Amino acid sequence: MGAIPSRIQGGLKEPRADRTPAAGDAVRLDGLSFRWGQSLPPVLALESLVIARGERVFVEGPSGSGKSTLLALLAGVAVPQSGVLEVLGERLDRMSGVQRDHFRAHHIGYVFQMFNLIPYLSMVENVVLPCRFSQRRRAAALRRSPTLEGEALRLLAHLDMGDPALRSRSVTALSVGQQQRVAVARALMGSPGLVIADEPTSALDSDRRESFLRLLFDECRDSGATLVFVSHDAALEGLFDRTIRLGEVNGAVLAAPAP
Ligand code: ADP
Ligand code: MG
Repeated sequence: MGAIPSRIQGGLKEPRADRTPAAGDAVRLDGLSFRWGQSLPPVLALESLVIARGERVFVEGPSGSGKSTLLALLAGVAVPQSGVLEVLGERLDRMSGVQRDHFRAHHIGYVFQMFNLIPYLSMVENVVLPCRFSQRRRAAALRRSPTLEGEALRLLAHLDMGDPALRSRSVTALSVGQQQRVAVARALMGSPGLVIADEPTSALDSDRRESFLRLLFDECRDSGATLVFVSHDAALEGLFDRTIRLGEVNGAVLAAPAP
């Protein structure tokens, strides 16, 4: 594997976030309210929302209803102005920004809508990336395969990306469907407890969406991860354990003044 540029090297060893979080629910939100800025209207007001460990949850809602905002909270990118935000047994609302950064690196696998692959890294280097930021994920990956590269290739093979001819190809030369699989392998690397995906199937045709989801489910089940998946594609809903309809549970929407 080629050298990883030094600016993205160095694992985190922060003790609190690095320990395996306590048993319990994967997500617990209680009396949570959130707005992006003081002068902006509330985006989310969630009285109570619990997601059990290992659940596969579909989050549905119209554009602008706060789906991505909810994911930003679960990933510790944003913090609520009030209420409880507990993820994998840890109170993110009580953590500092640095602690949340560490928590995210250790425990969250995030599949971005636009994949956010690093263009100057190879496919395998992109997948290995979370292990550069987290000793915990590095150790977890090495429990499954003898090397990090081997674990990346194992995940990629599961996602139908095992063809050696693909390995040397720049990630920017991959098709959208292939980039998406690399993004998923990267999110799953090192067995994070919570996998979050923000509309990752929007670029796929409907046949490939279902097979892609089955692969994602298999991998989450194998590693015991909880999956929170956002999509506006209602056809996928039946494949999940449960649907959270943000329009129904979000009090901020109900309280918003009529336009
Ligand atoms: P969805 O993902 O359901 O389409 P979002 O969570 O992206 O909805 O957006 C919900 C609301 O929050 C929208 O009004 C949007 O403009 C606003 N919003 C989203 N992200 C930001 C941000 N980073 N800063 C300010 N406002 C934001
Ligand atoms: Mg969104």
